[in-house]
Amino acid sequence: MVTIAVTAEGTDEPRVAISPETAKKLVGLGAHVKVQSGAGLRSRFSDDVLRAQGAEIVPTAADALRDADILLKVRRPSPDEVKVLKPGALVIAMLDPYGDRAGLDALAASNASLFTMEFMPRITRAQSMDVLSSQANLAGYKAVVDAAAMFEQAMPMMMTAAGTVPAAKVFIMGVGVAGLQAIATARRLGAQVSATDVRPATKEQVASLGAKFVAVEDEEFKQAQTAAGYAKPMSAEYQKKQAELVANHIKNQDIVVTTALIPGRPAPKLISRAMIESMKPGAVIVDLAAERGGNTELTEPGKTATTPNGVRIFAPLNLAGEVPVNASSLYAKNLYTFLETMIDKKDKTLKVNWDDEIVKGTLVAKDGKIVHPNLTQSPA
Ligand code: NAD
Repeated sequence: MVTIAVTAEGTDEPRVAISPETAKKLVGLGAHVKVQSGAGLRSRFSDDVLRAQGAEIVPTAADALRDADILLKVRRPSPDEVKVLKPGALVIAMLDPYGDRAGLDALAASNASLFTMEFMPRITRAQSMDVLSSQANLAGYKAVVDAAAMFEQAMPMMMTAAGTVPAAKVFIMGVGVAGLQAIATARRLGAQVSATDVRPATKEQVASLGAKFVAVEDEEFKQAQTAAGYAKPMSAEYQKKQAELVANHIKNQDIVVTTALIPGRPAPKLISRAMIESMKPGAVIVDLAAERGGNTELTEPGKTATTPNGVRIFAPLNLAGEVPVNASSLYAKNLYTFLETMIDKKDKTLKVNWDDEIVKGTLVAKDGKIVHPNLTQSPA
């Protein structure tokens, strides 16, 4: 029998790595699921609800970890948690693989096999395991809802007997998963939406959501997408042209949501101090790239900065965590579909196929060593 442990996250992480649905499904695979008491509370998954789906609720993290073959977490576990696992146990989490390298090396030294969900290959088979998509989608939604609340003006155009309220102008920078949901959400709220990206594939997506596409569409733009579907770092020349275009557009915007990222690199700085100074008092910027330094020059990660001209720059570090019921449910389902590939349904034992593309793609450390090529080689 495979024993799976879920322990509580730190105080700054409301999500949890299991849901009532996945507890039931894991038990259905023949697993023994041990959950630390209270671990699901901030996602509204009570001990009783998880117990009713077949999980064993244990008083402490140590009780959950004892004899576990697999530890499921949202964030990187502490070295103390991993230390008490069996040698060779699997740890599956969002390990923030490019952050705190010394801490990652220390975890690797425990001999656990560390998997990071952020590296899940973006192949059709693994779509249901894609945590970047499941969490970024919610973050994109919440960014717009929060921005609308901060804006203190109406979003849709309203024609009333007392006069017309104009539609808010919303500009989305970076049209990946978060950006697409931000566009859709802003449109649902009735805003006038425009969006930009460096990947040509996004042009049609933006149009199909009823938003206006604004971008420098030169030769470099045509080549800006990697085979994996991500953006490439752009040349200084492109960035200059992009900045000129953005400078003209941004001064008329009420809400700007930035989501631009390049895997393994600091977030590109797309909005300068001068651009922010050109914006209207009351305008709101939500910077979803804050965790990687932010897309604006004035972003203070984790804080809301207010500029002398009255522009607020909201730079949350965990927006998906602010819709924890949905975020945990989707994340837990991502984990479940991954785990399902590792558990032999007949024998009810752990059978990891170390040659599987999704295993190789997510395995960060094994037998005491960091093994993932993204972490053993310098970025291309
Ligand atoms: P991401 O979080 O890495 O980046 C967000 C967006 O920022 C991207 O669209 C990127 O092009 C953009 N960006 C980067 N530099 C920029 C710049 N200088 N100016 C403007 N925009 C810039 O991306 P993501 O949300 O993870 O999505 C990347 C792609 O992968 C998307 O096309 C997405 O639809 C695709 N995807 C595929 C699968 C799959 O096939 N299984 C799953 C999820 C996402």
